[in-house]
Amino acid sequence: MTRTARVDAVVVGAGPAGLACATDLCDAGLEVVLLESAGRVGGRMVSDYQDGFVLDRGFQVFNTAYPQVRRRVDLRALRLKAFEAGFVLARGARGERRDRVADPTREPGALPGMLRLGPPRDLLALAALGTWDMLAPVGLVKRRRGTTVRQALQGAGLDDAFCEAVLAPFLRGVFLDQDLAVSGRFFHLVLRSMLRGSLCLPERGVAQIPLQLAERLPVGVLRLGSGVERLDGDGVRLAEGGQVRAPAVVVATGPAAARALLPQLPPVSARAVTTLYHAAPEAPWPSRQLLVDGDGQLLHTSVVSNVQPGYAPPGVALVSTSLLGTASPEQVQAAERRLAELYRTSTRTWERIAVHRISEALPALPAAQPLSLRTRLGPGRYVCGDHRATASVQGALASGAHAAREVLHDLAARQPRPEALRELRNASGATR
Ligand SMILES: Cc1cc2nc3c(=O)[nH]c(=O)nc-3n(C[C@H](O)[C@H](O)[C@H](O)COP(=O)(O)OP(=O)(O)OC[C@H]3O[C@@H](n4cnc5c(N)ncnc54)[C@H](O)[C@@H]3O)c2cc1C
Repeated sequence: MTRTARVDAVVVGAGPAGLACATDLCDAGLEVVLLESAGRVGGRMVSDYQDGFVLDRGFQVFNTAYPQVRRRVDLRALRLKAFEAGFVLARGARGERRDRVADPTREPGALPGMLRLGPPRDLLALAALGTWDMLAPVGLVKRRRGTTVRQALQGAGLDDAFCEAVLAPFLRGVFLDQDLAVSGRFFHLVLRSMLRGSLCLPERGVAQIPLQLAERLPVGVLRLGSGVERLDGDGVRLAEGGQVRAPAVVVATGPAAARALLPQLPPVSARAVTTLYHAAPEAPWPSRQLLVDGDGQLLHTSVVSNVQPGYAPPGVALVSTSLLGTASPEQVQAAERRLAELYRTSTRTWERIAVHRISEALPALPAAQPLSLRTRLGPGRYVCGDHRATASVQGALASGAHAAREVLHDLAARQPRPEALRELRNASGATR
């Protein structure tokens, strides 16, 4: 790039939100530069490839029901393999009690176990909640009252003791939130997408999703290793020196980096997680299910190579385990002892191959926050990302699309070049 370049729009950050935004702007015929400080695309959706293993940076699953995902991603090319629906809840000091929790209309075999989960009143309330979230129009789900997850469960008529024993251990792993104080509206959307779709792993890891999005960009748009130091009057200043000038700048970074570039943004608290990866000479169980620790020492564990054989070399199993927060070395050792209890096996032959401590894994979505925040901050300034919508790849992509629409609208109003304008308006309508 020359020391000063001029384009129609600069997008800062090539995570899912920035990739979606840049793609929509390019599709509308704009000259765009997408600046990414790292040496690769994907942001938090990254995978490492180590000795034949695929190690996602933190346990991540890909939900096939997300509308933005369906619109933008070639699912066949990802060679997805799905987890079995629901989860297994292990309770008791040594995890001796096992219960399958799943939608019995999809997993009829889970029904007898489901009936033993709790009092009939709670089971009926749970069934009603799931049916409503799955079948109601999404607009109604989004417009529900601004409660916390815990209040949403209470509002559905579920008893606190049942929630704490059966649902909370699983939901803490979804939202990375011990208190379940995040948005109940988001909970309803997540439940809806889980009941409608499948939780999958791509053959070569979650990183394949942003890589696929990046491949759609015209040559020359994406600049890796180009961190933005600050925004200035008519563009951005690069950390390595130089400037890119543009009438529209979209900040599509994570929340902390966005606030460093746009100090007017409110602070966003982040949820942390630690994911351990172990190689085992054989799978400790044959299942493709998530094993949830009802005792709360671990969030959950699964043999990811049972789900997606591409995650481990032949003859070895890959076990992924997540803990809330950034775990100390002692907590990691305690987690390994707990794994032996949960899988009812000796883990002495297991090899710990990675520990990912991710302090800013998910933005906390407060109960009162709408599920989509405006992206336009002022003339020529926009912000998008999962912290402006929901903490998921769907939220990030939708927020990126939202920012692109606002940029297109504003540029169309500002520089009425007849042909470009017509295209912009069409594209703006098409992505809505
Ligand atoms: C452990 C974990 C588990 C998850 N599980 C799931 C899941 O199961 N399902 C799901 O849907 N979602 C999951 N997510 C969330 C999902 O990964 C995020 O919602 C999504 O990646 C957010 O995308 P984004 O584009 O908003 O931000 P990011 O992915 O954070 O991308 C921001 C980009 O901006 C770049 N950047 C930052 N500062 C600058 C700068 N100054 N200049 C240039 N570039 C900059 C960063 O390097 C990064 O590439 C998980 C996330 C984590 C970490």
